[in-house]
Amino acid sequence: MAVRYAPELVEEIRSRVDIVDVVSRYVHLRPRGRNLVGLCPFHAEKTPSFTVNPEKQLFHCFGCHEGGDVFAFLMKRTGVGFAEAVEQLAQQAGIDVSRLARSPADAERERHRRRLLEVHRLVAGFYREMLQGPAGRAARAYLERRGVTPAVSERFQLGYAPAGEALLRFLARAGIPVELAVEAGLLVPSRDGRPPYPRFRERLMFPIADHAGRIVGFGGRLLVEREGAPKYLNSPETPLFSKGRTLYGLHLARDAARRTGSVVVVEGYMDCISLYQHGIANVVASLGTAFTEFQAQALARVAERVVIAFDADAAGEAAAQRTL
Ligand code: ZN
Repeated sequence: MAVRYAPELVEEIRSRVDIVDVVSRYVHLRPRGRNLVGLCPFHAEKTPSFTVNPEKQLFHCFGCHEGGDVFAFLMKRTGVGFAEAVEQLAQQAGIDVSRLARSPADAERERHRRRLLEVHRLVAGFYREMLQGPAGRAARAYLERRGVTPAVSERFQLGYAPAGEALLRFLARAGIPVELAVEAGLLVPSRDGRPPYPRFRERLMFPIADHAGRIVGFGGRLLVEREGAPKYLNSPETPLFSKGRTLYGLHLARDAARRTGSVVVVEGYMDCISLYQHGIANVVASLGTAFTEFQAQALARVAERVVIAFDADAAGEAAAQRTL
């Protein structure tokens, strides 16, 4: 049975989704006058005749005469029906999809996802506060040594994970259940029957965002060497976070990548931030050395040229070769 959606809902989605963002996932767009142009995804061509008008939120191809709004684009490009297009775009727009979900199980999954996103957002705020307070003194000193200005720290939403119970107290205050924090990878269950403890301790924290800028995980850099503790630690795989499907800084680099037609891939969080600090905004970091096809596709959508800038040591060279 066909699902029907209220016209107001469809209108609300249209007003909250940017067609440029949606099209950019499939077409590399460049500015031309007031429009953006790219190679048409619906017919083969060598010179761009596919045009997106951000003001009117419409696309049109002067070659094959396809055209329409964001719903039409998604349906045509991915082959989904109108109902599915509405649901996908509603989700991206942060519009409550539970009221238009297909099944109670889907609705529950979606609600759970949103709860996890909220936990990440709140905890990122907690880390950020810690960085600015007395506990974050060493982390601030480290950033200063590395030449990271407060503005750049703000842009990347850097934070500090303290030792001790502070996170547990924060979670309790914020009403975040311990099990949810465990599922989010922020707490680690104890084996000996004691309560779960914070995964990230005495670390400079790098929130990792998805393509829409929502925080889905964290990376943490140890500030003081500790026996048996790795220098860098990431969130584990969670329902939100998958290393192979994420590129650090992508949502911040997208505009610059599109403008310049190129994107630089570095290995680490700090490399990414340092390059940004030195005026290179079209930079992302691969999380770990194994580069996935998913990441390659994500990059191909924002730029034609990809520059690999890994460490100049043997390990970095090998990783660069694999990535290429
Ligand atoms: Zn066309």
